[in-house]
Amino acid sequence: MPPLTCFNYINGQWVPAKVRETSQSRNPANSSEVVATFPLSTSADVNAAVEAARKAYLSWRKIPAPQRAEYLQRVAQILTKRKEELATVMTREMGKTIAEARGDVQEGIDCAFYYAGEGRRLFGQTTPSELSNKFAMTLRMPVGVCALITPWNFPVAIPCWKSLPALVCGNTIILKPAKDTPACATLLVEVFQQAGFPPGVVNLVHGVGPEIGQDLVEHPGIDLVSFTGSSVIGSQVGEICGRIHKRVCLELGGKNAQIVMEDADLELALEGALWGAFGTTGQRCTATSRLILHRDIKKEFTEKLLEKTAQLRLGPGIDPKTDVGPLISSTQREKVKKYIDLAREEGAKILLGGDIPKDSALKSGFFFEPTILDHVTPQMRVAQEEIFGPVVGLIEVSSFEEAISVLNDTPYGLSSSIYTQDINRAFQAMQDLEAGITYINGPTIGAEVHLAFGGVKQSGNGHREAGTTALDVFSEWKTVYVDF
Ligand code: NAD
Repeated sequence: MPPLTCFNYINGQWVPAKVRETSQSRNPANSSEVVATFPLSTSADVNAAVEAARKAYLSWRKIPAPQRAEYLQRVAQILTKRKEELATVMTREMGKTIAEARGDVQEGIDCAFYYAGEGRRLFGQTTPSELSNKFAMTLRMPVGVCALITPWNFPVAIPCWKSLPALVCGNTIILKPAKDTPACATLLVEVFQQAGFPPGVVNLVHGVGPEIGQDLVEHPGIDLVSFTGSSVIGSQVGEICGRIHKRVCLELGGKNAQIVMEDADLELALEGALWGAFGTTGQRCTATSRLILHRDIKKEFTEKLLEKTAQLRLGPGIDPKTDVGPLISSTQREKVKKYIDLAREEGAKILLGGDIPKDSALKSGFFFEPTILDHVTPQMRVAQEEIFGPVVGLIEVSSFEEAISVLNDTPYGLSSSIYTQDINRAFQAMQDLEAGITYINGPTIGAEVHLAFGGVKQSGNGHREAGTTALDVFSEWKTVYVDF
């Protein structure tokens, strides 16, 4: 398939960057295959997008929300029609399996239908005033021009999670996707174009994070930054926004754990661990990177996990038989390798994997073997830092209390899981686990669009995506008193 030529989308037009420099995205399963070329935008392109979005905001905010919602309905319908096309490009561009890529696009479709519904429900409140002849109410107002800065691991779902609630609330948007997935972002914005949004309401600028990402964050014409990515970059973004009093929503990394108690349904817990750790090649913010195992079941659980993991088929995601695709890039693979070396130095034992596969059929991609580390202790760096690859560490505990304390003992707090058949422990864990999301008898992965998504501690700054909580990010409450 010939590479897709991507352009910026500004004021309803596909345009090259003002300085015509380009870069490429490549298939991580076959790095010689160029998937797309994209413009390396500069501040001049950011300025043009901000100008278009500011102008469009003046009229878009005045369109009644139920009418704005009709555009989202059309996004849902067009995305449904183009689902297979987008999923195929996604698998080629970022490597996830075709089944996962279909799930990613489906998340976008669900999101569009859901926020289209919210357009008819952007409720405020009427409240009795304490004074006579006075009426009080609250209204949701749009925030303004939103910069949406997104990662590559959910290249359709995450931009949808941000753009659709932003648009239905009456904001205009500038999407800055990750440089690894420009084709996915381009096809998504094509869908928005087909849905007929007025010029300037939806804009797209491609380029490098520390350059135009930072330009967007600092730009005085941007009212809100919604950022999903690593905690390191997220804290820089948060710092800048704090300094210049800019509204900012940060969705960051995780070091998620699954607890397996001695009374758990082990088959269920094994399935959860397998897909939580190795699904999307471990490149999910909610991936299971620690398995906290009660000592009474650890031996049996580990043996079965080794057996199941060894059967996982590595390969290009486009092959429906593949279970685990490649990592996104050689840089990410180097990072994962360094963590394996570190694990050895720290005294962990590699039970399975730990290297680049020897299979010559996999030589042209950024594959890495699914890896299980044993003898991991809670304070090792491999148990504290986000690796973002197919690597899971086993930590042994002797009690429920110890399991909870080990799970909580990291700087992150995104997703958590416990497998137990004891309802009292399940409810206790629900309250005590320090995470934005807790699964009881389910893996750490899998989110539904109508429920709040986000984390505590270094996994975010307290905002939530999805559900009605995203409306709180993309709208401002206004209180109105009416004397009569
Ligand atoms: P990243 O932080 O490297 O990049 C994220 C985005 O920020 C990209 O678009 C990038 O170009 C941009 N960027 C980079 N430097 C910037 C700067 N100085 N100023 C402004 N923008 C900048 O992350 P990534 O490698 O693309 O994604 C992986 C990370 O994302 C992991 O840490 C993962 O846990 C996290 N993530 C979190 C969630 C969540 O909802 N909490 C979801 C998915 C991924």
